[in-house]
Amino acid sequence: MSKIQASKIHRQFQVNNDFGKKTKLTVLDDFNLQVREGEFLSILGPSGCGKSTFLNMLAGLDKQDDGQLLIDGDPVGDRSFDRGMVFQGYALFPWRTVLENVEIGLQIRGLEKKEREEIAKYYLTMVGLAAFANRYPHQLSGGMKQRVAIARVLAYQPDIMLMDEPFAALDAQTRETLQLELIRIWEADKKTIVFITHSIDEAILLSDRVAVMTARPGKVKEIIDVSLPRPRSEEIRNSSEFTQ
Ligand code: ADP
Ligand code: MG
Repeated sequence: MSKIQASKIHRQFQVNNDFGKKTKLTVLDDFNLQVREGEFLSILGPSGCGKSTFLNMLAGLDKQDDGQLLIDGDPVGDRSFDRGMVFQGYALFPWRTVLENVEIGLQIRGLEKKEREEIAKYYLTMVGLAAFANRYPHQLSGGMKQRVAIARVLAYQPDIMLMDEPFAALDAQTRETLQLELIRIWEADKKTIVFITHSIDEAILLSDRVAVMTARPGKVKEIIDVSLPRPRSEEIRNSSEFTQ
């Protein structure tokens, strides 16, 4: 059984055209995709083809007009799933501090305050924001908010990780650190990851398979297996060059 199964998904939105009249915009049409348990799948596609729309559906924030979207064999919306998302627009809780934003998933898991703080601080340090733990989201720049959102999902480590261009706005060094950490978490706990990116290199570096979408109305045009044997993060970490 697939971890995620999208069959014949159709989604359209009501939008105003240039003359202010309401018209229908078909974003996804006959969208089909299967993601295996424990797979790291990237989605590549032109801007506006419906990538975020699909991920929002997986997160339970939007619903298809037609077709079927299953997680573990059950329709999304029928029950809760252990999933977490890094949104394109951060989606932090404005009334919670940075630390509390990162802790939230750990609280849901029932971890004690001390342990929550320890893990949250570990990931805040990793994204370079340890000094900002007690600030509020509105006091941060866009890039910093993005890093908090990433720290939150890395700390939470849900069964299904949904990531919408998470590393796009980061500097190269932070991006590499977080890519390695994501791979480490994925390898350690066999997470299922659906990862949207604009970068072909990033998709190839991280994924088992890459789903390439057509322009709107979006559908999966091609799925490319990029899981050739390659050194995994532990091997890179343990290699003599890396540890020198
Ligand atoms: P992508 O993430 O691939 O760049 P999106 O899924 O964000 O694309 O959006 C696909 C298209 O659907 C865009 O043209 C966008 O403007 C439109 N769209 C997305 N959400 C809505 C909405 N809630 N209402 C109207 N139009 C929307
Ligand atoms: Mg998008």
